[in-house]
Amino acid sequence: MSLDRRHFMKLGLGACLLPIVGGVRSQPLVSERMYAFGTLVQVDVAASDPEAGRAAIATVGRDFVVQNREWHAWKPGALNAMNLALAAGQSHDVEPILLPLLLEAQALSRMSGGLFNPAIGRIVGRWGFHDDELPTGAPPAAEDLAVLRSPLPVMDDLHIDGQRVSSRNRLVQIDFGGYAKGVALDRALDRLAALGFGDALVNLGGNLAVAGTLGGRPWRIGVRHPQGGGALAAVEVSGRLAVVTSGTYERFREHGGQRYAHIIDPRDGRPARQLASVTVIHPNAALADAAATALVVAGPREWPAVARGMGVESVMLVDEAGRVQLTPHMAQRVRFVTRPVAVRTVATV
Ligand code: AMP
Ligand code: MG
Repeated sequence: MSLDRRHFMKLGLGACLLPIVGGVRSQPLVSERMYAFGTLVQVDVAASDPEAGRAAIATVGRDFVVQNREWHAWKPGALNAMNLALAAGQSHDVEPILLPLLLEAQALSRMSGGLFNPAIGRIVGRWGFHDDELPTGAPPAAEDLAVLRSPLPVMDDLHIDGQRVSSRNRLVQIDFGGYAKGVALDRALDRLAALGFGDALVNLGGNLAVAGTLGGRPWRIGVRHPQGGGALAAVEVSGRLAVVTSGTYERFREHGGQRYAHIIDPRDGRPARQLASVTVIHPNAALADAAATALVVAGPREWPAVARGMGVESVMLVDEAGRVQLTPHMAQRVRFVTRPVAVRTVATV
């Protein structure tokens, strides 16, 4: 059950499972890898019957395929159909698989003071991030971006009445890239628990959630250094907890020596610049995912107020210079594997 360096890299910016030395295992661990949500996915379950464990993981894999299609930001599916209707000024009956995400994202966006804003899909697309290939060339012109922010699309532009959704702003285009993986993590652990697998780990490209324990001991998770290949820190988690990381090194375009990341600051329509990565630990993976994105936008000074607004207590940030800030809760959990250039503990309350 050890991950070699290549797998470590492929699992993305955020986190990975670290090998446990001398663990006591009551049940064999079944571990499967697959591709979903455009990334490498790893699912581990403790299963006395490995066949049943593999079948449960296959069920989760099928869920991921459906979720990825129906929640996709730009490919045909339920979200895309809604976006097309809203852009045409029409109201739309949304699919049941989409409705709870819209309602929860409205709440999360309010909690973040509008920094988590999935309504700015058109701006994300204008920066070229609605494509499997990373964009090249000059960034969009300021005038183009200004048009897409007149007025700035927000989640509360959506009027949701039962299943019927309309928008008072035709510029609204919902993009759940900042939070759908978190929702999928929660759903995957729910699904595994319902199938009888209460000790599990799901890793969606470095965004990870665990349930229960690894043979009675905590799962040991490595958080990658945003600017290097290796682990920055190790953290031990058990019970229901998600470890979600957002970063500006994950997906970006470059032009004239400048890096433009895929996380957009709704306040100016431009990529977030100051933080390399933010890691959030929280029982609710969807909330952790939305919060990590919002905190990257908030930046190195404003993040404590946003963390407080979103109710997240375990936060770790790495800035462009490799300096770390973390909350007291996070400081209690993490052990640095690579010594950061500076570490500061900052209370959010
Ligand atoms: P994450 O890796 O979770 O931070 O998600 C990044 C993705 O979220 C981007 O690729 C966009 O699809 C979307 N996104 C970008 N900026 C924002 C924002 N301010 N609020 C919500 N979603 C965003
Ligand atoms: Mg996120």
